[in-house]
Amino acid sequence: MQSTMMDFPLTLVHILERAGKFFPQEEVVTRLPDRSLHRYTYAEFYRRARQLASALQKAGLQRGERVATLSWNTYAHLEAYFGVPVAGGVVHPLNLRLHPSDIAYIVNHAQDKILIVDDVLLGLYEAIRPHVRLERVLVVPLTGQPVPEGLESYEDFLATGDEGFAYPELSEQEAAGMCYTSGTTGKPKGVVYSHRSIALHSLGSALPDALNLSSRDVLLPVVPMFHVLAWGLPYTGVMTGCKLVLPGPHLDAVSLLDLFEAEGVNKTAGVPTIWLGVLQALEKEPTRWRLRPMEMVVGGSAAPEAMIRAFDRLGHTVLHAWGMTEMSPLGTVSRLKRHLLGDPEVAYRYRAQQGLPTPWVEIRAVGEQGEVPWDGRSLGELQVRGPWVARSYYNLEAESDKWTPDGWFRTGDVVAIDPEGYIRIADRTKDLIKSGGEWISSIDLENALMAHPAVKEAAVIAIPDPKWDERPLAVVVLKEGQSATPEELRAFLEPRFAKWWLPDGYVFVDEIPRTSTGKFLKSKLRETYKDYKAT
Ligand code: ADP
Repeated sequence: MQSTMMDFPLTLVHILERAGKFFPQEEVVTRLPDRSLHRYTYAEFYRRARQLASALQKAGLQRGERVATLSWNTYAHLEAYFGVPVAGGVVHPLNLRLHPSDIAYIVNHAQDKILIVDDVLLGLYEAIRPHVRLERVLVVPLTGQPVPEGLESYEDFLATGDEGFAYPELSEQEAAGMCYTSGTTGKPKGVVYSHRSIALHSLGSALPDALNLSSRDVLLPVVPMFHVLAWGLPYTGVMTGCKLVLPGPHLDAVSLLDLFEAEGVNKTAGVPTIWLGVLQALEKEPTRWRLRPMEMVVGGSAAPEAMIRAFDRLGHTVLHAWGMTEMSPLGTVSRLKRHLLGDPEVAYRYRAQQGLPTPWVEIRAVGEQGEVPWDGRSLGELQVRGPWVARSYYNLEAESDKWTPDGWFRTGDVVAIDPEGYIRIADRTKDLIKSGGEWISSIDLENALMAHPAVKEAAVIAIPDPKWDERPLAVVVLKEGQSATPEELRAFLEPRFAKWWLPDGYVFVDEIPRTSTGKFLKSKLRETYKDYKAT
């Protein structure tokens, strides 16, 4: 029997129209390079996003053609997030922290046609310019400097668009956006999101048991708009009609705290590195900022339990989430079920894990003998499926083994799932430490080390060992003015782990190298310490 329901396409047109019609007075605030604030309303954002769509159409943008951005989190970037897809194009944010040769590879691989670039990033554009073929380059004048000769002003381009623009008829399955993985594990790989996947991901993300966003919130995504579409937050935020605060290029802790305070931010999101910096600043000057209690989504890497507890003491709530570029990115969120609310220690244990899958995300953990039991201990590779999970990479057949024959995506993360269905990520497959045929979770050791009062950051890596195959080595950054010896750290870990889990050595460094998205660059550490010998 056929249903009697409408076949209504899930496209970004609806989200944009809704924002323009129902939330015209709501604000989008951007911190500009000179630190001043640019502010306008959703009404203005709506008008300009549509004008951009019209200008792109007039410029001959064809369905499915890519418009890349090289931009910080700004109002113009938000306009591109909507204006490009509602014109039938595909918005493609480029990771500006990558090496220019990687950016050029990505531009060429994606066959980007047009580039929208912040004027403060023109130096980076110049570095890729000889290696790419772009038809047009539009410069966003964030500083008020004149646009260099030979390039076009984004504002002039926008002015060519009509306000009375009519949307093309879009199918929900058409491509709307694309992102490349940052290449933590190999060459960057492209994922192409559809209008439908973004629409459903926005609905799933906004749910109370997910990120819990509403029109009463003030949201500041610290996560860059080039990192998995800022975790979809610009779309989810605009869909809910919340106030959006965009930090521009100023991502240091003090700038962020100033902005949280000035704009009344109560929802924010970013990788743990950002929050470790914010925590230090707050602990140093606890009375400097008058902040609203914030809920901070932490993902990209594991949120250490010590950090979750420390923010609680300051009146803010860390919300631990897990996701991937291939998943738009949201997969799981660690909200507590009602019956887990009572005991604070149980609550912390759960909050330090990665959580329950959101509706429409299905999970399983698979070991060598097939699915592993949900006992909270057995480890297996996490596999997922759902309407916002990729089914392939863009133009990259060689990677097809990332999907199982029965259609699940192999995340490359090793997890335990407990009887409640909460997942705990033990490691990326490549980061697991295999000692004497058993696995040691680097994340568990890192989290325990970061609970030591003198430790700011810790990364645990595998070093080759003739007898055990691999052994753990801890690379530690101490807090300013604090000290700790290897013996002290070992004694601190001893009561928490089996003896064979304890690192063979502790090296103290000033900083841990990072990836372009702020994660520990463990491949570099493994290379640096491959000949390390415990004394
Ligand atoms: P890249 O692959 O370039 O690092 P992604 O942002 O897509 O880019 O990374 C996804 C990976 O990040 C996941 O597969 C997982 O290993 C890690 N990750 C994401 N969130 C968490 C989390 N909350 N805890 C532990 N690891 C996480």
